[in-house]
Amino acid sequence: MKTTLFTAATLAFATWCSAETNTPAITFQPLPYAYDALEPHIDAKTMEIHYSRHHKAYFTNTLKALEGTDLVGKTMEAILPIIGKYPAAVRNNLGGHYNHTFFWSCLSPKGGGQPTGVLLEKINNAFGSFDAFKEAFKKAAMSRFGSGWAWLCVAQDGSLFITSTPNQDNPLMDIAEKKGTPILVIDVWEHAYYLKYQNLRASFVDSFWNIINWPHVQSLFEQAEKTNKTTTPQK
Ligand code: MN
Repeated sequence: MKTTLFTAATLAFATWCSAETNTPAITFQPLPYAYDALEPHIDAKTMEIHYSRHHKAYFTNTLKALEGTDLVGKTMEAILPIIGKYPAAVRNNLGGHYNHTFFWSCLSPKGGGQPTGVLLEKINNAFGSFDAFKEAFKKAAMSRFGSGWAWLCVAQDGSLFITSTPNQDNPLMDIAEKKGTPILVIDVWEHAYYLKYQNLRASFVDSFWNIINWPHVQSLFEQAEKTNKTTTPQK
């Protein structure tokens, strides 16, 4: 009885603390490195405009789009699987905020090379070799007409697949053509590369391999595997 009372009191206190400090469910995180940290692969000016203007605008407009909906206070991860039920402004802006936050986390000034361990094995099994995987990923990035993203994902059955999404959609959304848990992404909107590469999207994609944060991708892969094991497969 005492324990129950204590738990209830603790919960009430936690709720009160959260309300007092007004902890927002969706925040604009600092970039995990300096604007010039990814030079020469991504130039400082592009990083600055991309993060502080493009990405910031998606964040600001996400909060506006959520106003007055029942989504206020929910995390992005909670909203993405039901986003098709809401206005396009929610899908486009929250998608934009989620995708950019995810993209920055996949990059590192100390990046490049190859993954190791189980992830490398899975890539080799799924695509034939690491080079064949790079080819397939590049093809997805190049064949996305207009603006969008190319992703490496873990499917519900644990297999790896590559997909691409238009605009600010992503594979966690209910409206996605192919759904899965993303572990790597490249932004192929022109604003991501135009200042340095102009129309040469292929050169930008080739440079991307030098700045991939594989240890982070690997940890996302391990998390996805764990989650898949504890969730009942969807029919
Ligand atoms: Mn972008």
